[in-house]
Amino acid sequence: MTVHSKQDWHAKAESLRISHRMVIGGNSVDAASGETFASISPIDGRMLAQVACGGLEDVNRAASAARRAFEDGRWAARPPAERKLVLRRFADLIRAHRDELALLETLDMGKPISDSTSIDVRAVSNCFDWYGEAIDKIYDEIAPTAASAVAMVTKEPLGVVAAVVPWNFPMLMAAWKVAPALATGNSVILKPAEQSPLSAIRLAELALEAGIPEGVFNVVTGSGPEVGRALGLHMDVDGLFFTGSTQVGKYFMEYSAQSNLKRLGLELGGKSPNIILSSYPDTEHAASTSAHSAFFNQGEMCTCPSRLIVERSIQDEVVETLLNVSREYLPADPLDPATRMGAIVDARHATRVLEFADHARADGAEVITGGKRALEETGGSYIEPTIFNNATNDMRIAQEEIFGPMLTVIPVDSLDEAITVANDSCYGLASAVWTDDLATAHKVSKSIRAGLVYVNCYDCDDMTTPFGGFKESGIGRDKSLHALDKYVELKTTWINISGRS
Ligand code: NAP
Ligand code: MG
Repeated sequence: MTVHSKQDWHAKAESLRISHRMVIGGNSVDAASGETFASISPIDGRMLAQVACGGLEDVNRAASAARRAFEDGRWAARPPAERKLVLRRFADLIRAHRDELALLETLDMGKPISDSTSIDVRAVSNCFDWYGEAIDKIYDEIAPTAASAVAMVTKEPLGVVAAVVPWNFPMLMAAWKVAPALATGNSVILKPAEQSPLSAIRLAELALEAGIPEGVFNVVTGSGPEVGRALGLHMDVDGLFFTGSTQVGKYFMEYSAQSNLKRLGLELGGKSPNIILSSYPDTEHAASTSAHSAFFNQGEMCTCPSRLIVERSIQDEVVETLLNVSREYLPADPLDPATRMGAIVDARHATRVLEFADHARADGAEVITGGKRALEETGGSYIEPTIFNNATNDMRIAQEEIFGPMLTVIPVDSLDEAITVANDSCYGLASAVWTDDLATAHKVSKSIRAGLVYVNCYDCDDMTTPFGGFKESGIGRDKSLHALDKYVELKTTWINISGRS
């Protein structure tokens, strides 16, 4: 694999060709209105492209193209083994375009290029491979009924599905939905976030090149309140699969209720508790892993372990390690392969994130590092890694999702108090406990109301495991074979074989 220097990446960025039109029915198209919006890089505030700003008419065009493609069976009626081959070819093409896709992602939303290449692009191609590989190995059922009849339970694609996704892992959040939706035979309309539309457009172009037929994978760019809402309310969209904030997830429930009761999948926010107990033999390792996970991706992670719940007896040692690790995450040029913390997605979000340092002080927590902008001379949006110490769980920094590089340390005096604090949240996405005691690990795992529990680790990840949350963190799961169920309807067909008609 070629390794590029910072200079190489800057040179590549200069000569990058950026697609800025939507992909509808296999064509690269401008918005019906002719309007565009600026895609700005948070690295330096530079305009990358004027992107088609879709609206209702474009959503209608995409829905008709997707419906036509679905109804004539150009994709849905293909044998699963053929869909597999096409999806695997798509995965190969994504790998072949690794540098280009990674660069689009980094320029558009600011994450370090090392992460875009080694995590995002790799995980996206793996996701298409995985669902492609899976789909010709899944059987339907014959129910164990009386011998007078055969009852077949078969799976059919929903039809036209839409995916509305956020900007923190633009391609990956899309892939977690688009791959199982395509594998099961649906036609898809993807709406990327306004802050990060570029990689989605390029993915749809590569999908065509891989042989995914026209109209089967469409991308409509534009704003949430216009394009996202129109998809949510559309009478001819059968399912809507969303990743984003809890607030917007609730809007989608309303859109579904106001329109055709379309099926929803909602992957929403989090405020994940991470409990370090004094019984864990290597406090430094636990604290260091926790800090790396908290600052990874600029803290713009739904699973960010943003509430560090620590037994008071080891608090000082934990905090010292957190401070040491935070120094490795001082923001730097995202195109430098050595950079671990890049830019915050846009200036508006950076301002919102920074307000939490003020909330922390006002509520009585200590800001022991960070809480400031960095690299202002670049024209980009950067924030220093930030640690709040001696917080309590009722503070805003412990209750609200910050979605930035800010870690809140909450001391407790017992395991039971730690569990109570962990569950005192409207969210239930991820959680963790560090302990050397098996019984404690089981107790915490059973007691925490969250979709993911890590024991003595954080952010373990694999396509084979379901991902999603309890409570206001969402409904349904991405990844694993379980995710396939979201994109199919079950049909029961009774066949009378009694000999009597
Ligand atoms: P967001 O504001 O909810 O936006 C997500 C998507 O919804 C964007 O495409 C956005 O479009 C669209 N949208 C916004 N307002 C809308 C409306 N009124 N109607 C329909 N669509 C609308 O979230 P974000 O700020 O991009 O992303 C951060 C959030 O995502 C965090 O809460 C994070 O926890 C969550 N997240 C969850 C997971 C998970 O798997 N659970 C994973 C990653 C992120 P525009 O931005 O273009 O307006
Ligand atoms: Mg951008």
